Amino acid sequence: MNPPTVDPTTALHSLQLDERQRAMLAAMGTPVWWPEAITETAAEAKPATLAPATVRPAPAPAAAPVPAPATATAPTANPAIGDLDWDALTEAIQSCQACGLCQGRQNAVPGMGNRSARWMIVGEAPGEQEDKQGLPFVGPAGQLLDAMLAAMGLTREADVYIANVIKCRPPHNRNPEPAEVAQCRPYLQRQIDLVQPDLILALGRFAAQTLLAGVVPDVDKLPLGKLRGQVYRVDGRPVVVSYHPAYLLRSPADKGKTWADLCLAMDALGYNPLTPSAET
Ligand code: SF4
Repeated sequence: MNPPTVDPTTALHSLQLDERQRAMLAAMGTPVWWPEAITETAAEAKPATLAPATVRPAPAPAAAPVPAPATATAPTANPAIGDLDWDALTEAIQSCQACGLCQGRQNAVPGMGNRSARWMIVGEAPGEQEDKQGLPFVGPAGQLLDAMLAAMGLTREADVYIANVIKCRPPHNRNPEPAEVAQCRPYLQRQIDLVQPDLILALGRFAAQTLLAGVVPDVDKLPLGKLRGQVYRVDGRPVVVSYHPAYLLRSPADKGKTWADLCLAMDALGYNPLTPSAET
């Protein structure tokens, strides 16, 4: 039987969200719906169980959570990185010359946010604005990320830590090369180890492929659409994959799928955005 057709405008007003959350969801251009129950704890994280409806973006086919094998932890090109504290890590990134991307950067972009956050956002690499300011996710893509976070009752300053796989801007925003990812990966791993987030949200194909290397066979051959829609386990920690905000600016039709991914992440974390202050 076909699911009922629901006018997204009607759906938007049917939820018990506050004005700010409604505004942010509207800013995302997202059909609004809510998971049936946000009761799972991270330890009980499960694949999407989101009931279908016309206004509900359909997650990719769910599968059993994928456990991480012992080899999931990224190789450490420089073992010393694994011993750095925050200040030393930031300094190491800002002075790093381990790959050719250092030559064209104005600023390396280590990351920003709450260093003890439950949520960690991992993107791909700095763009033009990020390179100028030395901060991740600024400019239009950053504004959309902020809207996504606000829809979840979160702010980048208080509730999440944001980092990229690659810390220096690739020229002309080209895709990072495997050797560059391999060189830069230990910095991200150290950030994860320091933050100890309860969940990682991987935004974009490179972030997903980097974090799921060793967890998903042939992950480098899979498009993002094949990776989203389930909760992975990497070093015992849930990882959820979704689209990068820069991609969503070009393909707004996929904002609904992104909202489904965010709901999946909230579900995995047992996080209720209607009472965020009680759980963050
Ligand atoms: S991209 Fe990473 S590995 Fe390359 S120079 Fe920048 S910080 Fe170093």
